[in-house]
Amino acid sequence: MTMLKAVTRCLWSNPVAGRRMMSHHVPQNLSGKVAIVTASTDGIGLAAAEALGRRGAHVVVSSRRQANVDKAVSLLRSKDIKVIGTTCNVGKAEDRDKLINMTIEQCGGVDILVSNAAVNPFFGNILESTEEVWDKILGVNVKASFLLTKLVVPHMEKRGGGSVVIVSSVAGYQPMQGLGPYSVSKTALLGLTRALAPDLAHSNIRINCVAPGIIKTRFSAALWENEGVLEEFLKQTSIKRLGQPEDIGGVIAFLCSDEASYITGETITVTGGMNCRL
Ligand code: NAP
Repeated sequence: MTMLKAVTRCLWSNPVAGRRMMSHHVPQNLSGKVAIVTASTDGIGLAAAEALGRRGAHVVVSSRRQANVDKAVSLLRSKDIKVIGTTCNVGKAEDRDKLINMTIEQCGGVDILVSNAAVNPFFGNILESTEEVWDKILGVNVKASFLLTKLVVPHMEKRGGGSVVIVSSVAGYQPMQGLGPYSVSKTALLGLTRALAPDLAHSNIRINCVAPGIIKTRFSAALWENEGVLEEFLKQTSIKRLGQPEDIGGVIAFLCSDEASYITGETITVTGGMNCRL
């Protein structure tokens, strides 16, 4: 009995529990594939680009600022990842066209789209949010995800199929206080994933969604910079640490691989055990 207690105590206090086991040998199961990742010069997008690249995909990174694109491209190249980059504000039609056209011209096609870009220009009482705020949030977070998917479909069809992953949020299941419009946009992405799945399946394209919990990036700084706020969030998780972008990158790469060949219209929550759905 005391032995059992000791083991239990050891497991409880084991600081390694819940840590990632990083392997240097990842399977090259995406070699020959071309992957577009939006908003991929920092945070989760950059980690997704790296995870896809480490598995052999040729990745196309992008974000609004050229300096950020240049930095991400050289960082990934220094890790022996095949990568090109361009600026693309996903909220602009001409930028979306440019991103896809450049990918086709320089990489010969596209097999994978990770729609990761999102903005949140509003924090506060939802009743104070303006039409402008809603247009911006829904335009960038939801509409652009759909329009980018629509743009890549004919190219994926030419390759015989493909895979789309959309980045939602735990806030899509349970709206976060102060983040009403943003949370609603993330709920819409769960719906978008399901709405597209049956029609895309006709073209052998799978579409899935990832809903991250609290991941340590600049975007979520307000949630982890303040010790008190962070503590409140960690109370809701089983794994007592913030998520890292790499925790999401690997799941995205899995969804894009053939190992996920029978998964579509699905959302995987990656939250360290936050209670967000049945
Ligand atoms: P991040 O580390 O702050 O990175 C944001 C990236 O987006 C940067 O590369 C930025 O580069 C780019 N970007 C911003 N607006 C853009 C636009 N309109 N078009 C194209 N690129 C744009 O953010 P993150 O935390 O990784 O967030 C990525 C995604 O994860 C978002 O969809 C977010 O909602 C979701 N998410 C995050 C968390 C979290 O806790 N961090 C939790 C759940 C979901 P430029 O400035 O150069 O454009």
